[in-house]
Amino acid sequence: MRLVHGNSFSKEAMARKHSRPEATQQCLLVPLHEQCWECGKRLWVASSAVRTVTTLDRLCQLTLKIRRCQNPSCGWYHRSYRPEEEGHWALPHGEFGLDVIALIGALRYTHHRSVPEIHRELLARSVLISERTVTNLLARYEELVTLHLTDQARLRQRLLPQGFVILALDGLQPDVGHEVLWVLRDCPSGEVLLARSLLSASEADLAALLREVQASLPVPIRGVVTDGQHSIRNAVQTVLPDIPHQLCHFHYLREAAKPVYEADRHAKKELKKQLRGIRPIERGLEKRTDTEAQAIRGYCLAVRSALTDDGRPPLSASGLKLQERMTALLASLTSVVEKRGRLPRELERLQSMLTKGLMATRSLWSDVQTGYHWVYRAAHILSNDEKLKGAQVRQRYEELLDSMADVSTSSEALATMLTTFRKVTASYWPGLFHPKRRRMPLPFQAWGGMRRSFVGGLGGIRRRHSLICSCIVDSQMKTMV
Ligand SMILES: [Zn+2]
Repeated sequence: MRLVHGNSFSKEAMARKHSRPEATQQCLLVPLHEQCWECGKRLWVASSAVRTVTTLDRLCQLTLKIRRCQNPSCGWYHRSYRPEEEGHWALPHGEFGLDVIALIGALRYTHHRSVPEIHRELLARSVLISERTVTNLLARYEELVTLHLTDQARLRQRLLPQGFVILALDGLQPDVGHEVLWVLRDCPSGEVLLARSLLSASEADLAALLREVQASLPVPIRGVVTDGQHSIRNAVQTVLPDIPHQLCHFHYLREAAKPVYEADRHAKKELKKQLRGIRPIERGLEKRTDTEAQAIRGYCLAVRSALTDDGRPPLSASGLKLQERMTALLASLTSVVEKRGRLPRELERLQSMLTKGLMATRSLWSDVQTGYHWVYRAAHILSNDEKLKGAQVRQRYEELLDSMADVSTSSEALATMLTTFRKVTASYWPGLFHPKRRRMPLPFQAWGGMRRSFVGGLGGIRRRHSLICSCIVDSQMKTMV
């Protein structure tokens, strides 16, 4: 049976007696590329696909935006570009995450457990799975680590018409201390090129994997998509020095902005505590159907939907977003008071709740705001909409870092945010601005789509959320290294 593609994961083999429970999490994945790899023209979002993946710690419904080239003279006309991150989650057609497969493989081959034992272990971790599926996934694991690359004829057939490979490298470690399952795959075709389980993940180990893949490919590598881990970055730098290394800006910024994100999350938590009173107000309205009650319900709903709208690092600022929405609600209530003189009792309660909550958390927000201000400026330079040369981008970034260093602040939190940002930047620096590139590298293009999301300051939130989501997928997968 083929490992990936085709319909190797036949419905029959994966049959379940019970329907799957509701997904516990939704995630939107969008392709990082907005330009066609072949002709360079803009790619349009042509369709969406939905798939649900069971990972070790969640049941996630993935919504995938699929782009297509609309240029009839292009070799990629009407071919689908699926989000690069899709392969992080699961094999094509697979219902279980790669992390589950990695764990099954580790339990079998490192800990010598039997299939029933592995099954029990997974159930104990609340992974709903049948014993037969464990057997099937174990077979997937075995195929993963043995078959690929040896099947040259198949690789040629899949990759020659495509003409190039966008290489992604993912490391999956089910538990600390376990071996890491390294998966190297091609993004456009979804083909797994090589998978290897390694106890250590030194730069030399990873470089060897990259060399092995490179040597066996019938087509050139046009881009690399990886995590920001040092050993990976160095290995790519060594083996594929001239190949644009995508995604590292996302990972870089996520790491650099971590204290900002943490501060935002903390402030959000504090504000949420103050808004618990929303539930009794809603309950008091349950039996009423009059127009006033409907209006009050509208306000309550606005609070509630803001409370559940979570973002992901680095640019999502979900706390600030909550604070802004609550401030806007308060302003709206105030204007009602001005017009009508008086609010209904319930809205008076809401008004005082919002006022109290915003006052109580006021001191927390200013650091978060300043922190994000810097992060957005950094992201804006990296997005390079002005299409500057690499050296000019680098210079602008250096200027930004200099002015960041000049900030004098009495706030310890803000100082930590800025120091961390500069420290992480220094460690990523060699890979951030590529000296030999003539064209704008892929990472900058990837940022292009993102710019729209924060160019309007903290306003155009929804769009940002969806754009950020795709690059943060792996941060949601705890198993990722
Ligand atoms: Zn095209």
